[in-house]
Amino acid sequence: MLDTSSVVSEGQNKSVVKCPHCDSQILSPQSATLLSQAHPLPTPTQPKEQQSPITEDLGEWWVVDDMFTFDNIGFSHTVGTTKYLVCADCERGPLGWHDNTSKKSYVALARVKHV
Ligand SMILES: [Zn+2]
Repeated sequence: MLDTSSVVSEGQNKSVVKCPHCDSQILSPQSATLLSQAHPLPTPTQPKEQQSPITEDLGEWWVVDDMFTFDNIGFSHTVGTTKYLVCADCERGPLGWHDNTSKKSYVALARVKHV
């Protein structure tokens, strides 16, 4: 579990959410809601010739109801109804995932920077 107290205010992101690699701004303050729930996300680096991606369970997510809430976000690949989110500028990630059914997006607190 992450210590979220420094980045959460009344259940929302207290500060700007940025890409940890290139500082691109992903979310403005108070634009996403904290969800504490274990969900797998592929690890940032995958071994070559890996058939199915290696994932890790992450427990804290910024839930974004509407794609237009993002200041910047990109998509990488789609698996079933899940699209993986990457930085729009440097294309590194995945930083989270988007559910094509509910249209909600989930950004992993552990994969982004809070400024
Ligand atoms: Zn970036």
